[in-house]
Amino acid sequence: MNYCPQCGAPVTRRIPEADDRPRFVCDTCKVIHYQNPIVVVGTIPESEGRILLCRRGIEPALNKWTLPAGYLEIGETLQQGAARETLEEAGYQIVDLKPYAITNIVRVNQVYIMFTCGLGDCVSAPGSESLEVKLFTPEEIPWQEIAFRSIHKTLKLYCTDMGRGNYPIHLFDIT
Ligand SMILES: [Zn+2]
Repeated sequence: MNYCPQCGAPVTRRIPEADDRPRFVCDTCKVIHYQNPIVVVGTIPESEGRILLCRRGIEPALNKWTLPAGYLEIGETLQQGAARETLEEAGYQIVDLKPYAITNIVRVNQVYIMFTCGLGDCVSAPGSESLEVKLFTPEEIPWQEIAFRSIHKTLKLYCTDMGRGNYPIHLFDIT
């Protein structure tokens, strides 16, 4: 950040009084601009033993397969964000959301919260972010072509849990 989003004056990076880490501070309007991790929400939609994946139509990881996920918007609950992303990227409504995987990716300031769910109706074509939407059995998943490490690990955990018929909540870090 170079300029204050509030007043447009240049900001400086320093530790404000009574704080313990550097922040962008505006000396003109006195606002401290806190920056915090971003929440990414998504789903692992399953229908009769098959998992829905989307082939990415945008960078990064163009052409790779991923689960529906994206940034949580202001004014949304986690569940609403996960449902919206699934509708936008896959064109499906979802049912029975349950929290499943929480992932810290400190290096890029992100927290992923992924939900298990069932597939509802297909109500539209996949959005421009997806080239293709397809259902895979665990054996069919293209493991070499999964977009992100967090998604890869979430899928691995899910496939293991499918085999056991038990879906505990997982918390893990990507370093
Ligand atoms: Zn300012």
